[in-house]
Amino acid sequence: MTLDPTRRLVLGAAAAIPALGTLAPRIVRARASDVVAVGDIRVRVVSDGTVTLPVSFTLPETDEADLDALFRENGAEPPREFVNQTNVTLIETGNRRILVDTGSGPTFQASAGRLEEALLEMGVDPQDVTDVIFTHGHADHLWGALDDFEDGPRFPNARHVMGEAEYAFWTDPATPQTAPDWLQGLALGAARVLDTLGDRVERAGDGAELAPGISYLATPGHSPGHMSVLVASGADQLVVGGDALTNVYVSFQRPEWPLGTDLDRNQAIATRLSLLDRLASDRIGLVGYHLPFPGIGYVERKGRAFIFASG
Ligand SMILES: [Zn+2]
Repeated sequence: MTLDPTRRLVLGAAAAIPALGTLAPRIVRARASDVVAVGDIRVRVVSDGTVTLPVSFTLPETDEADLDALFRENGAEPPREFVNQTNVTLIETGNRRILVDTGSGPTFQASAGRLEEALLEMGVDPQDVTDVIFTHGHADHLWGALDDFEDGPRFPNARHVMGEAEYAFWTDPATPQTAPDWLQGLALGAARVLDTLGDRVERAGDGAELAPGISYLATPGHSPGHMSVLVASGADQLVVGGDALTNVYVSFQRPEWPLGTDLDRNQAIATRLSLLDRLASDRIGLVGYHLPFPGIGYVERKGRAFIFASG
C-alpha cells in the first residue's frame, strides 16, 4: 500500500438536504479520501456519515474504569457514547468501480446516509458502480443499497455480492424471531432490502475471487457470515475489514474484550486476534469501517497486543 504523503481530506461544498419526516434539515459535508494505491488497484474511502451507539451496549462486560483508563492511556477523553464513522470503500481496477458496503440509507440514523451525495461530489455516478460487495447485513452496511424511495437498487447496474452464510442468515424467515432483541429490527430491515434486491444478489464463500485481485476473506463472529475483502496487486495487500475491527483503541489494544454488537462474542474475539496477527505479520494495510475517517492504516504490535497506525 502506498500512501500519498500529500493525502488530505477533500471537503466538498456544503449541501443542504431536505427535511425527512421529523428530522431537522442539516448541513452536510460529504467527504472522500485521496487515492491509496494497492499495486495497480486504486482505493478511496467515502464517508456515509456517522452512527452513534451507547457505551453500555457496545461494551456490556467492560468496567467503566477499565475503558476510561484505556482512553486516557491514549491521550483521549473517555467516551460518553461511541460516534462511529462509516467508511465505505471504493475500489477502481480496470473498468470496474467496486463499492464495499453501501452505508445506511435515509432511515437508520439522521447523521448517516450520505454516500450517494459523497460519490456524486467525487464525480462517481451511482449508475457507474459495477459491483457492490457486502461485508455483512447490518443496517449501516446494507440499507443504503436501496434508493431513497426504498423500492429499487441505488446502484442499478451493479452486481451485488454477499457471503453465502450471511445471506442465508438474513433471508431465513426464522431469524427475526430467533435473533436477540437488539437485532430484530435489523433482521426485518435486512430481509426487506435483500428481498427488494432479489436475484441481483450473488452469494460467494471464503476465498472467492470477486474481481481480479479482489477476494472474500471470512471474518465471522460480528455476524454469522461476516466477510472482509482482500485487495491484492503486485506485492501490496490491503484488507477492507468491515466490522471485524471497529474501535481505534479497544479493537487493537484490548481485542479480547467482548462486544455487545458481536452476535457470537467468542468467535469475534478469535477472528480479531487472528486478523490482527496476520495484518501485523504480513504488513497488510487496513480499512476499518468505523475507525476515525478515513480509517486507513496499518496494524503494529505493541507488547502482547496491537495498535492501529493510521496511514
Ligand atoms: Zn457497522
